[in-house]
Amino acid sequence: MDVLDFKALLITALIFVPIERLFALHPAQKILRKAFFNDLIYAVFNGVPIAIGIIAAVALSTSTVGRLVPDYIGSTVSSQPVWLQVIEIILIADIGFYLAHRAFHAVPFLWRFHAVHHSIEELDWLAAHRIHPIDQILTKSTSLVPVYLLGFSSPAIGLFALIFHAHALLQHANIKLNIGPLRWLIASPQFHHWHHANEREAYDKNFAGQLSFIDALFGTIYLPGKAVPERYGVDDAIPPTYVEQLAYPLMPKGQSNEAPATRDA
Ligand SMILES: [Zn+2]
Repeated sequence: MDVLDFKALLITALIFVPIERLFALHPAQKILRKAFFNDLIYAVFNGVPIAIGIIAAVALSTSTVGRLVPDYIGSTVSSQPVWLQVIEIILIADIGFYLAHRAFHAVPFLWRFHAVHHSIEELDWLAAHRIHPIDQILTKSTSLVPVYLLGFSSPAIGLFALIFHAHALLQHANIKLNIGPLRWLIASPQFHHWHHANEREAYDKNFAGQLSFIDALFGTIYLPGKAVPERYGVDDAIPPTYVEQLAYPLMPKGQSNEAPATRDA
């Protein structure tokens, strides 16, 4: 769905733009907000390197470590109903996502890649696409490789991928969505908007991709009532364009007047 699929992108826009207009979390934010066209470039082109990287990581792991996994595990796992497999995949994948995401915040070299995603200053469905390919390949591979090694069926993995994509867009969307007590179980827009807040009390919180209770278990959840952030972004001096942002993590640190590269929350 990510890979140069203009029709899917147009349909996604036709779904999310009206919902964002009707139920805006930040009503003053424009459709053509800051960096809109840069994020559009991500949405169109970024899927290709990401797909290549994830396919390579999965192929490498299944052809090496995968040979050590007994066959009966795969046949047992894939014989379960698809809906049950999808629930299991969400749980397994999100534990991997949480750990990888947390590492991208904690390790200064990795943070330089992830800071590109956190440079979003106005969140919406399109902003979800602004992710450095290295960040996305490593995070998604960490979450998906165990799923492939365990032998989940292709329909279950395909359905999971659709749900994950829709959930990621929803969480970044400029949408006010109250899911009540479920917000302690499932990641909501409020949950992920706080992850993007440039407000000190929210630094290094809400790492989960889909299941907010993982953050509750690890003590990293931040959901202050119905409050939503005032400010998004990072203090790091992230350049404004796609190509510059791809190069940014590998540039010598002294080349820009940037603030400290990590958040010391
Ligand atoms: Zn993050």
